[in-house]
Amino acid sequence: IENLNYQYKNANELTIKDFSLDIGKGEIISILGESGSGKSTILRLLAGLEVPLSGNISIDGKQIVDNRHFIAPEKREVGLVFQDYALFPHMTVEKNIKFGLRKMTRQQKQSRMDEMLVLVNLSEYRNRYPYELSGGQQQRVALARALAPNPSLLLFDEPFSNLDANLQYKIREDLRKILKKTGTTSIFVTHDQNDARALADRMIFLRKGKIEKIGKPCDMLVHY
Ligand code: ATP
Ligand code: MG
Repeated sequence: IENLNYQYKNANELTIKDFSLDIGKGEIISILGESGSGKSTILRLLAGLEVPLSGNISIDGKQIVDNRHFIAPEKREVGLVFQDYALFPHMTVEKNIKFGLRKMTRQQKQSRMDEMLVLVNLSEYRNRYPYELSGGQQQRVALARALAPNPSLLLFDEPFSNLDANLQYKIREDLRKILKKTGTTSIFVTHDQNDARALADRMIFLRKGKIEKIGKPCDMLVHY
């Protein structure tokens, strides 16, 4: 990500200012910052839900956005997991996970889905509907669905904020293991400094759309 600038139409200053970041393959980055600092906007720009004023983004050497290119969201191989999980309520766990799989035979879909269920430890729940699952289980289904297409980049926007502290702790341990096991490059937005520290290889502290600090969790002391 190079020199990304962005401004919402009705805003009177830049929402994102000169944001640059090099993320290694398989690296987990967390972004911390106060409400309104632009965390979700960064994710939206990466996912292709907003078009930057200037700057460029490339993934695996492929230009995603610059002044001449704009690759559509569905063609970016970028996955998103939001706070409210957004599972399809009328679909079973299996169907939810298979939903994003394209260009695969029925058999390939089935085996990919099985693999994901094992990964998130929900094989026994495959035929349940979301309302028959706990919050943490739903969260794991959402994770499995996001991982199933093997995204080049996986983005998380405060996915744990609905969970109680115990479950939050458990899930973030699992999440780091799963992301490292699958080698999934990811960015994790959170308000919670403990989440950020436990999960990330590097942390970013964002203030008013600019990177104020960036570093390894052990080197970062953040007050805000
Ligand atoms: P939070 O922690 O509360 O989720 P955030 O860091 O994710 O905050 P953003 O959602 O990225 O913040 O918003 C950054 C700024 O852009 C805020 O000042 C917000 O009011 C503004 N903003 C967000 N969405 C829009 C929009 N659609 N139109 C205009 N301004 C917006
Ligand atoms: Mg946000």
